[in-house]
Amino acid sequence: MADFEQDLQKYRRQMDAGFRNLSFPTDMEAEYTSQYLERNIAKQRTALWVSAVLMLLLIPFDFSVLSGRPLDFYSLLRIGFTLPLLGVSYACTYVPLFQRRFQTFAFGMVLFVGLSTNLCVAYANKLGQQLPYEGLILIIFMGFLLAGMGFRLSLTCACLLFLSYCLLAVFYMPPHVMLMHELIFIFGSCLVGGAAAYTLEYQSRLGFLQKGALRSAAKIDPLTNLLNRGAINYQLEIIMDHAFREQKFVTMVLLDVDYFKRYNDTYGHVQGDACLVDVAKALSKGCRRSLDFAGRYGGEEFILVWFDTKPEEMARLSDLIASNIQQLNILHERSKVSDYITLSGGMVTGTPSETLTSSIFIQKADDILYESKNRGRNRILCYTFPEEELTP
Ligand code: GH3
Ligand code: MG
Ligand code: MG
Repeated sequence: MADFEQDLQKYRRQMDAGFRNLSFPTDMEAEYTSQYLERNIAKQRTALWVSAVLMLLLIPFDFSVLSGRPLDFYSLLRIGFTLPLLGVSYACTYVPLFQRRFQTFAFGMVLFVGLSTNLCVAYANKLGQQLPYEGLILIIFMGFLLAGMGFRLSLTCACLLFLSYCLLAVFYMPPHVMLMHELIFIFGSCLVGGAAAYTLEYQSRLGFLQKGALRSAAKIDPLTNLLNRGAINYQLEIIMDHAFREQKFVTMVLLDVDYFKRYNDTYGHVQGDACLVDVAKALSKGCRRSLDFAGRYGGEEFILVWFDTKPEEMARLSDLIASNIQQLNILHERSKVSDYITLSGGMVTGTPSETLTSSIFIQKADDILYESKNRGRNRILCYTFPEEELTP
């Protein structure tokens, strides 16, 4: 119950606080990462086969421009290591252990392909042959956009590749006139790719927060902040299953505001809404443990459910509800039973079984609520399901 509301607040608070550094608090970060990885595995597979296809397309052309030692070195790296590694990596995307570590794995792959490309280019240049450096730009973009790494990791990877190319160009390759152009283009691809990756991750995190807030909001009644009807049914089934398995009591009360139509007619709908909000707050004070919950069953009707409460506790619970409502002191001059807002209720308790289901609980609570109304309102009548109803 309160879980939904807590979640709603959690996502909203994070949206308000912002996340420009692209990180959430630990728990939320873990939740985001697991969703992110699920979606990214398809992207990563695409990155792997695109890389393999491009490499297979390039190899014959590289072969035609290389000869001698550069060709041997190139063949060893490309055909001996890179292509098999891409194949193995692709297979690994189906292994859960690797899926969970795929950011690190992707980091290693992009770094390996980039460094080996730089080495091939540098070695060929050193021996007076030509291999284009532009492949590195493609690899940097692949790292930023397709490999499934977070912004920081892909930026680190791109910077390392840029740095390695700078070092090779300055200390190993023979000087050439276009060197500064090359370095500026590679640096530019780090900047443009980095900006794109930052925006993508920011949008992805924003979407995660918005979806989370929406999911939680769909379960909460917007006026009272209590569970709505759908969430009540869902939560009730969880409690009933739990109580059935553990043979514990469940207590439920259906409550209805007395003469609420008259209240609206006297004070207006806006004040009527405010009254329902106050009543809801007072009622939710009564459910503090994690499985207990309060919900808005319909218009001016509410439901409270407690897990693992003995029949003897019903009197205490109904007194608690009555006193919480009484403390509100909401004036209701045209009520026939009091000068203040009052509730009528039907409380039931029992241990769920195959025959004693949630709908029987609700039906009985509703019958008793009706009886409370007939007996003069402003009261909560209680009922305990007899033992014989507990077994089929
Ligand atoms: P009783 O004591 O028999 O329960 O009488 P009642 O007047 O409370 O019951 P009735 O079912 O005749 O009227 C319920 C009223 O609750 C009518 C409806 O306008 C009002 N109501 C339902 N939902 C809301 C809401 O969200 N806001 C406001 N202000 N009023 C609501
Ligand atoms: Mg009603
Ligand atoms: Mg009513």
